[in-house]
Amino acid sequence: MPTEDLGGVPAGATVELTVGGDVQDEGAVEHGLEPAAEVLSTDSVTPAPAPVAVRGPVTNAVTVVLVAPAGTRPDADVTPQDVAAAVDGPVAAFWSEQTGGAVRFGVAAAHDWISTTAGCADPTALWDEAAAAVGFRPGPGRHLMLQLSSQTAAQPGCSYALAEVGAGPASGGRLYVREVLPSVMAHELGHNLGLSHSSALQCDGTVEAGTCRTAAYRDLYDVMGVSWSELGSLSAPQAALLGALPAGATRELGVLDAPAEIELAPVAGRTGTQALRLVAADGTAYWLEYRTATGRDAWLGRPDRNRYRLETGVLVRRAAAFPDTAVLLDGTPSPSGGWDADLRSALPVGVPVELAGGGFTVTVRSLDDGTAALSVVPVAPPAAPAAAAAPRDPGTGRLLPGAPAGRAAAAPAAQAETPVAAAAPAQPQVPGPAPFVPAAATLEPAAGGSGLGMVLVAVSGAGLAGATLLVVRRARRLRTR
Ligand SMILES: [Zn+2]
Repeated sequence: MPTEDLGGVPAGATVELTVGGDVQDEGAVEHGLEPAAEVLSTDSVTPAPAPVAVRGPVTNAVTVVLVAPAGTRPDADVTPQDVAAAVDGPVAAFWSEQTGGAVRFGVAAAHDWISTTAGCADPTALWDEAAAAVGFRPGPGRHLMLQLSSQTAAQPGCSYALAEVGAGPASGGRLYVREVLPSVMAHELGHNLGLSHSSALQCDGTVEAGTCRTAAYRDLYDVMGVSWSELGSLSAPQAALLGALPAGATRELGVLDAPAEIELAPVAGRTGTQALRLVAADGTAYWLEYRTATGRDAWLGRPDRNRYRLETGVLVRRAAAFPDTAVLLDGTPSPSGGWDADLRSALPVGVPVELAGGGFTVTVRSLDDGTAALSVVPVAPPAAPAAAAAPRDPGTGRLLPGAPAGRAAAAPAAQAETPVAAAAPAQPQVPGPAPFVPAAATLEPAAGGSGLGMVLVAVSGAGLAGATLLVVRRARRLRTR
């Protein structure tokens, strides 16, 4: 039957069809096949099986070293096998699945505890000393991952985790973590692959105008946001940076395009139209995707796992610059007094939402298990030079740069993660230029968490029961090769 007659059926699905008359089909004649039949209806769709990690040769080899920096002792209960199992297991599966097999991590070697004379205050010296001890040689697709002693939590200059930001998936790079937590390992390796953070933009009762703040890491759907017990689908702007969104998976509209009706498939289904990219008059990209409780995002439908009550539905993210790749916009914005408690961001159904200063009006028409139906009305800017269009980053007043062209232009740098208590403002401990302090520390980590899964346990917080904030600060720039 004609392929276009099966547009709504996901790849891999089993489907029952009612067919009508034959249709003209030169291809069938040429290849000696039966004539194609018109499809009258589709029925009994059995969903495609859940995506699985694509197996194959390792593209990104991880050398693991357990390290007790100066002033600390090894953790008796952490073995090289523990760390290797996390990297080879959930971390490798995540990146392989989310890149369609393009990025396949694997542990090349896992070395037992060493003690270094270098401390945390000089991560380069720490990495160099560990590399020398185990014979690690840097190179494309080669990663040096240090698992630090938990005692580094009390050491000055130690981040919760730290990674070099690579130029792309083949860069390789160095990183350290101090918890055996797949989501934070995947996050730091994501930095090596070239990704920055997934944060949120919260504006006072509006989607992106007026008084706003950028809340670091506040995209709990994405690996490059807060590291917690769940690890959902890679968001569209991050996937695009890795070249992991096939051309056929993305629709794009500019302000000069005609109004369009768009159907988005669930991002976790990894088939059909995965993302809608709207390009504003100033070049800023907006990414829309549809999250449902399926596949990798199945936890969204599980009250015991979806502890922050994140919504299913259509999400909008705006491209951003280092230390962020993208900011999640809020489709149901609260007044500023409610920001801390507001983790609901999906676009409401049936309500027109303006993006890019009126450059686009997006209306979610309907949602079901397989499809989000959207209407998008682009509005061409006036012919006269328009001074108004560019959205501003309210934190700095700087104009936001346009969408990165394929690869982030950010200079190689290191990103450090530090969990902080909500009450205490972040005190940058690594000397360096322009420490980045997020506008609000509303989430906080549990003290003394350990083990897989539920490390970031609920701690009472104003309006937000139990969440985690990892504060990024801009550490010294570290050149990657
Ligand atoms: Zn990070």
